[in-house]
Amino acid sequence: MDLTDFGAGAQYIAGRQSRGNGEPFQIVNPADGSVVEQVALATTAEVDAAVAAARAALPGWAAATPGARAEALNRLAAVLTRAGDDLARVETAQTGKPVRLATEFDVPGTIDNAAFFAGAARNLEGKAAGEYSGDHTSYVRREPVGVVGSVSPWNYPLQMAAWKILPAIAAGNTIVLKPAELTPLTSLMFARACTEAGIPDGVVNVVTGAGRTAGEHLVSHPDVAMVSFTGSTAVGRRVAELAVAGVKRTHLELGGKAPFVVFDDADLDAAVHGAVAASLINGGQDCTAATRAYVQRPLYDAFVAGVAELYAAVRVGDPLDPRTDLGPLVSYTHRDRVAAFVERARAYATVVTGGRIPARGHDGTDLTRGAYYPPTLVTDAAQDSEIVQGEVFGPVLVVLPFDTDDQGLRLANDTPYGLAASAWTTNVHRSLRATREIAAGCVWVNDHIPIISEMPHGGYKASGYGKDMSQYSLDEYTQVKHVMFDTTAVARKDWHRTVFGDR
Ligand code: NAD
Repeated sequence: MDLTDFGAGAQYIAGRQSRGNGEPFQIVNPADGSVVEQVALATTAEVDAAVAAARAALPGWAAATPGARAEALNRLAAVLTRAGDDLARVETAQTGKPVRLATEFDVPGTIDNAAFFAGAARNLEGKAAGEYSGDHTSYVRREPVGVVGSVSPWNYPLQMAAWKILPAIAAGNTIVLKPAELTPLTSLMFARACTEAGIPDGVVNVVTGAGRTAGEHLVSHPDVAMVSFTGSTAVGRRVAELAVAGVKRTHLELGGKAPFVVFDDADLDAAVHGAVAASLINGGQDCTAATRAYVQRPLYDAFVAGVAELYAAVRVGDPLDPRTDLGPLVSYTHRDRVAAFVERARAYATVVTGGRIPARGHDGTDLTRGAYYPPTLVTDAAQDSEIVQGEVFGPVLVVLPFDTDDQGLRLANDTPYGLAASAWTTNVHRSLRATREIAAGCVWVNDHIPIISEMPHGGYKASGYGKDMSQYSLDEYTQVKHVMFDTTAVARKDWHRTVFGDR
């Protein structure tokens, strides 16, 4: 099966690719504005068909043994491995991310996730039996929740599809995923890979549609038992409202504004390299990207100078060129949004480097047709300013000084978000304190960005709740049932006195 044959349409329902009946929509390559695919968006009727397919597939898939589900996921990892080059190429075409990143991060991360959840599927267990009441034996069954309705963003389309689909199906659920309409292609490839791996029709469905129509219809659908969402905090609130109205389980992975705290005993070279890599990965369109560096006063000037120097050497250009470090942002609209953040910041802060849309790439190529934006370093911003508090979601780092450790940690916690953070120090007590006191779902020490299938990813505060990846994600996608057996075999139980008295 050629996973890249999108001609048949952008909906994947019950193991078949089909055309949407909604509005035509162009998937645009932000490197040059060319059209990658012309699709038709899903109507609410297609969302209904996908939910019906997931519902029909649920009893069979939920009853499959953990071993059978694990075998299917192992086959999926093999199919994804064979399709690796195509996945990387299509991911780059629809997002503009450097092919080096797609090849070395997105694709292998996704394959590793599939292999991890193949193993995890066989490690789902309930609590062992116990005679807690004296008159009964109790045990706990862990069961799938049902049909999962999932909505994902455009920044890591393939990995987000994997993070949503894999734990759901490893635990015996079936799923309908609505990817971001800008970037549905690798989610469709992932769904087709599931079919190729022998996962039954209807277990994994993808509907390509707009958020306000297809997305809202999916998360409000009465046959959807659980909603898992990754995206902005604003849309997450709306999704949560709709899900709450239906008393559905929700799992929300939302925005971030990760602090990067450099204490005065840190390895400066490591911190500078770490800040540049962690602020520019995926063009800064990463919910865990380093966005606010707080640097203790003695290292502040050298840190700013070091980051500025490395930013100036970043190779901005064609994302298909393996030498490119920074490609375009995902769309012209998003690039303009990032640029507007920086333009507004000029009124109250200093733009040290970047901040101007580049006309030429590192090798002289014309970039004017693409949605490019350069690495941009901002200083002298107040803690309560928009550039420090708001989610820019681009290659923009703001650096602020601090004096005492108390102050640095307080500033790190001073945004509504709490997804990820890092502390840079060679002092064990400082690092332990930072990991304790920073309110975020992940705190790195002397690094910033790495993720791994075995460990959970998810937010605190306005960054949402629930965990992706790891064994913890299986808690999201399962419900526990208490089963209680009477062991007395008597007709009149002791507790019946509460109703019958001594009669
Ligand atoms: P977004 O919130 O605009 O869109 C996310 C998804 O929601 C898309 O599929 C979109 O079509 C859909 N959507 C939009 N309106 C909807 C509605 N009313 N009802 C249902 N669905 C709707 O986010 P984005 O711009 O695609 O992605 C960037 C955001 O995602 C950033 O805020 C980023 O921090 C966040 N993100 C978070 C994580 C995490 O793990 N916490 C990971 C990646 C991205």
